[in-house]
Amino acid sequence: MPATILVGTQWGDEGKGKVTDFVADHMDFVVRYQGGNNAGHTVLAGDQLLKLHLIPSGILYPHITSVIADGVVIDPRILLEEMDTLNARGIGTSRLVISGNAHLIMPYHLELEKVTERYLGKHALGTTKRGIGPAYADRAARIGLRVQDLFDPKIFRQKLDVALKEKNLILTKVYGRLPLEADGIVEDYMEYAGRLEPHVADTSKLLWDALRAGKQVMLEGAQGTLLDLDHGTYPFVTSSSPVAGGALASAGLGPHEVDRVIGVTKAYVTRVGAGPFPTEDTGPDGERMGERGQEFGTTTGRKRRCGWFDAALLRYAARVNGLTEVFLTKLDVLSGIPRVKVCTSYRADGRSFDDFPPHQSLFHKAEPQYDEVDGWAEDLSAARSFDDLPKAARAYVELLAELGGVKVSAVSVGPSREQTLVLA
Ligand code: GDP
Repeated sequence: MPATILVGTQWGDEGKGKVTDFVADHMDFVVRYQGGNNAGHTVLAGDQLLKLHLIPSGILYPHITSVIADGVVIDPRILLEEMDTLNARGIGTSRLVISGNAHLIMPYHLELEKVTERYLGKHALGTTKRGIGPAYADRAARIGLRVQDLFDPKIFRQKLDVALKEKNLILTKVYGRLPLEADGIVEDYMEYAGRLEPHVADTSKLLWDALRAGKQVMLEGAQGTLLDLDHGTYPFVTSSSPVAGGALASAGLGPHEVDRVIGVTKAYVTRVGAGPFPTEDTGPDGERMGERGQEFGTTTGRKRRCGWFDAALLRYAARVNGLTEVFLTKLDVLSGIPRVKVCTSYRADGRSFDDFPPHQSLFHKAEPQYDEVDGWAEDLSAARSFDDLPKAARAYVELLAELGGVKVSAVSVGPSREQTLVLA
């Protein structure tokens, strides 16, 4: 049975949690493949609104095994807190499986991110300051500590001492901070180890066996395509690979295991933090999208920047992820805007670009070229089929599919499961 990849096509916050919820009944495994506790899916379970920052949203369903794969960085304190919160709400976490190869976020990662962002001043990246970037940097520098190290106290201490020696020099000599003590860190992490041990397994093997046994596996990305370390708007990106290819590398699966790549696309665009955003609308329309769409970060509470749909970016996301279909979310938010704009291409330096420009300077200067179409005044939240939508809303969806060059398989008009219109 082939696996499905679910990936955001924009700068994250496309409503991926809702899509997972929609397909959950058919899934046996939901796998988180990158990022750390910076993600934040908001999911509506029954009448409960739950915010998950690290644990895959599959955890809400008793029949699903939730997996945290190799390519995720884990702050064990936060993970255990999230497990406790779920347990307190009566949601069991015994079906959570964690890869022993996943890297650990350590206290010095948090400390270092705080001081470096401050040091960068106006050039700061606007990170979530949860130590995720520094943990990925140590992973690449091969001085990271992994989940499996928790279960060998001697090795854990050795690796920690090596890392701390350098980190403390940087903290004290470069940033004038106090050094961190190894003993306290060891004590805390050994306590986490005891609680995490029953959840740790070889997740690549687990998924391989599951697929051989005909189980349904979904690999769920956090953030989005334009925040990808390689394919996003570098340097204003995340430190891992949300694109579909990243899912395979992290989960330890080959490309032939996947036959479906669902791109989650919001009916307009939002972005958190710094970086280029050609279709941003800082006027009343953008303000309206932010208010009606409640565009505030799940993890940070930060207000998101809002703007018009960008079809050039959808074409790009369709290409770099190999999307087989699009799940379009939050169409209801656009109700009441008399004329709706859609970016079809850009102009920069006197040239026209149908796609994401190949040089970042061009993207910074890109002037969006818009098609303007009629909006709709009707509230869409009660629609239950595509035909229930007003003509202008249907035409808008069809236009996005045509310009994006990818079929739209479902349209969402509200947070609940019933507010999902499946297209033939
Ligand atoms: P994610 O990280 O990609 O899951 O995105 P968010 O955490 O920003 O979640 C999107 C938010 O929008 C959540 O609060 C959802 O309940 C909500 N949502 C999802 N789909 C729709 C929709 O079609 N319409 C509206 N109005 N809200 C939606």
